[in-house]
Amino acid sequence: MTDDGSAGGLRMAAIPSTASRQEVLGYDYLIVGCGLFGATFARLATDAGKRCLILDRRPHIGGNCYTENLAGINVHRYGAHIFHTSNKAVWSFVHRFAEFNNYVNSPKAISGDRLYSLPFNMNTFYELWRTRTPSEARQKIESQRFLGEPANLEEQALSLVGQDIYDTLIRDYTRKQWGKNPRELPAFIIKRLPLRFTYNNNYFTDRYQGIPIGGYTALFEAMLEGIEVRLNVDFFDNRSQLSGLAGKVVYTGCIDQYFDYSFGRLEYRSLDFHNEVLDIENFQGNAVINYCDTSEPFTRIIEHKHFEGSSSDVTVITREYPKACTGEAIPYYPVNDLRNQAIYRQYQARAQATENVIFGGRLSEYKYMDMHVVIESAMNRIRSELRQASA
Ligand code: FAD
Ligand code: UDP
Repeated sequence: MTDDGSAGGLRMAAIPSTASRQEVLGYDYLIVGCGLFGATFARLATDAGKRCLILDRRPHIGGNCYTENLAGINVHRYGAHIFHTSNKAVWSFVHRFAEFNNYVNSPKAISGDRLYSLPFNMNTFYELWRTRTPSEARQKIESQRFLGEPANLEEQALSLVGQDIYDTLIRDYTRKQWGKNPRELPAFIIKRLPLRFTYNNNYFTDRYQGIPIGGYTALFEAMLEGIEVRLNVDFFDNRSQLSGLAGKVVYTGCIDQYFDYSFGRLEYRSLDFHNEVLDIENFQGNAVINYCDTSEPFTRIIEHKHFEGSSSDVTVITREYPKACTGEAIPYYPVNDLRNQAIYRQYQARAQATENVIFGGRLSEYKYMDMHVVIESAMNRIRSELRQASA
């Protein structure tokens, strides 16, 4: 099937069969979306001698990793982005384009009038219960754990860390973040956070971690060297003509939109980012502070200068307000509950049956993927493409 999937019966422009298509068409790949999936795929395809055209409807490259310089500080426009991976190939790949610093993410969390350490570790347990040894902390958790098989985020959290931590640091943050009762959310979301019985505030467990020195935008600029990128272009404004420019389309936008919402809309969660430039040198003393109770509607305040240790008399902070993804709101997080997963599976089957289109990235795979996972996924896709081409 050669199907562009739109409900109105639109089809890709008459495209010659595979043998001759690349001689006639200008590009091997038309890549929709200049985020991490699109840019990684384009880089590796270009390195292998393929011709790529990337387009993005935003006015900039980098997708959600985009950083911009404000008052001499690299501001993460779409929320804090900390790079972490245990995959050496991924770590080497990003090092082709930027040097990384040794930033280690150690967020703090505010609940009531107290400040706690994250992720959940011996520091958190001491701050909450004054326990000092792992066995004291384990006993405390054991006495209040959920003992069944966790079927949702609330049960998973109660099973891992017990009632006190759930009530103090998880329940209200999760409600704000997702706009749902934690009982309606999948368990895996909370398993992103490590639980440790050591005094270790590192939010991630990966072997490699850091922030690209000079910001992510500079990394993308280096990654995209020699690759044609057209910004402010929405694929859906001209899909059949654009698809006709290349042998294959690599699509990294929302999968439900690609298929014209024919199985219904997938739910995404959106965010508003409110930036402020403050005339002080240091606002909160840390890059990330979470607000875990209901006294504030936002979930986090990011103070960007701490990612790169930028020295400046002023500082830039961002409050992160979660919101429903309706109208013009940008989709950030897939909501992988049972209802949406069932809808997604229908789109996935349709995608698998669609020739000459590769679906990749967070919105297209409808998966809560961190940056290193997206890069790995793009690496795998181009590898199998090249294998197929040489077979
Ligand atoms: P995106 O970055 O969303 O790129 C997709 C691009 O496609 C966008 O630029 C979009 O404009 C474009 N597009 C969509 N539809 C069209 C269309 N019709 N026409 C043209 N262009 C289109 N990961 C980490 O590893 N560490 C972190 O600390 C971290 N923090 C995060 C914080 C937040 C708030 C969020 C939302 C994500 C975070 N991530 C983090 C995840 C990270 O952002 C993603 O893994 C990564 O950006 C996904 O890349 P992508 O290419 O799949 O998607
Ligand atoms: N979470 C929480 N309290 C916190 C931090 C995280 O309850 O202080 C929960 C919340 O449900 C969140 C999930 O853990 O959506 C994953 O957190 P993470 O920091 O990985 O979220 P992201 O950075 O992807 O938004």
